[in-house]
Amino acid sequence: MAVEAKYYEILEVEVDAEDHEIKKAYRKLAMKYHPDKNPEEGDRFKEISHAYEILSDPEKRAQYDRYGEDGPGGGAGGFGEGGLDDLFANLFGGGGGGGGAHFDFGGMGGMGGGYGMPPRSRKGESMKYPLQVTLEDLYNGKRTKLALEKNVICSNCSGKGGKTGAVKKCGGCQGRGFQVAMRQIGMGMIQQMQVPCGDCNATGEIAKDRCKKCKGKKVTVEKKYLEVFVEKGMSDGQKIVMKGEGDQEPGVEPGDVILVVNLKQHPIFERKSNDIICNLTITLTEALCGFEKVITHLDGRGIRVFHPAGSVIKPGMVKRIPHEGMPIYKRPDDRGDLYVKFDVEFPKDKFTTPENLKLLESILPARPAPAVSKHEIVDDCSLLMADIDSFGSTGNSKNAYEEDNDSDEEETTGTQCAQQ
Ligand SMILES: [Zn+2]
Ligand SMILES: [Zn+2]
Repeated sequence: MAVEAKYYEILEVEVDAEDHEIKKAYRKLAMKYHPDKNPEEGDRFKEISHAYEILSDPEKRAQYDRYGEDGPGGGAGGFGEGGLDDLFANLFGGGGGGGGAHFDFGGMGGMGGGYGMPPRSRKGESMKYPLQVTLEDLYNGKRTKLALEKNVICSNCSGKGGKTGAVKKCGGCQGRGFQVAMRQIGMGMIQQMQVPCGDCNATGEIAKDRCKKCKGKKVTVEKKYLEVFVEKGMSDGQKIVMKGEGDQEPGVEPGDVILVVNLKQHPIFERKSNDIICNLTITLTEALCGFEKVITHLDGRGIRVFHPAGSVIKPGMVKRIPHEGMPIYKRPDDRGDLYVKFDVEFPKDKFTTPENLKLLESILPARPAPAVSKHEIVDDCSLLMADIDSFGSTGNSKNAYEEDNDSDEEETTGTQCAQQ
């Protein structure tokens, strides 16, 4: 999968460039291509400004890194149908000429007419892969090895394809470098598409005295192991760039392998920026009388928390433990905070014996006096068992309404279903 890195290329920075590097690169290029100095390069200047607008805004940059220029909604090839063309027309002033500007996201073409992209450097495409990590990995840091299949220059022929390097036209694609493939796209519809020719590796040429190892393709597919270091405090969506680890091709500087951190949901902790939060269930007795609890942290350490009697913990209440959150990226000795959200477990029904209830009534604050109804009509209604997931489902099946009316289970007397 090719990475969407165009804006980075435009600004001539690496995809993992720091904010200040991006700013510096922009200043340099904006000076160089400013229309006052360089009226011929107006489009280039707009392009630079737009790339900077996106990459200098952390939110926009993260969005771009994840979804590319398409944004989160756009699927593959989803551009060109409305919105985006208009957007580009606005950004670049009047579209790319010739009506219906078409922006080639592959980067080989350009904007409709005379859009003058800089010539592509002879650098191979970067390859982007997701890297699954757990919150523990991001907390503790982790060294891991990844197996990667990639093209490497054939060691037998040093990338010449044969002994002499003499070539002939590829028979598989008639020298065009691509073949036409049919693809079913549903309901009897067939799409014709061009796919790179596998015989000649899309070069259109094959060596005359073909190397036996690579069969004249100049490269072979090999499994390589990459050592990856997940640093403490990295975040979901962050990129780890392995320079020059992309596919090799004769005469081309290999592209990078870019790993995108993909955080798996954690069963206990939830992360937001450098803070983490967990739920802690305590009993009603603990909520009222105080408690001591040990929470297992992401490094396996126990975190003992002590809450004295004298202040009641209510359900949903939140407390904070400073400096026990995530390590901060690049300064792992600093940490965010750990938040604890309380859930209070009430005693079981069997606890409510007449003796216990009498005791409780005698010590708990008195009930509020029964409200004197201010309504003309008061209906007695029942409280039935319910599941919040079925909220909103009434009327979705024909019988639901009748069933509800017929039901007479679990009636609690005296409950007022007053409608305010
Ligand atoms: Zn070879
Ligand atoms: Zn071919």
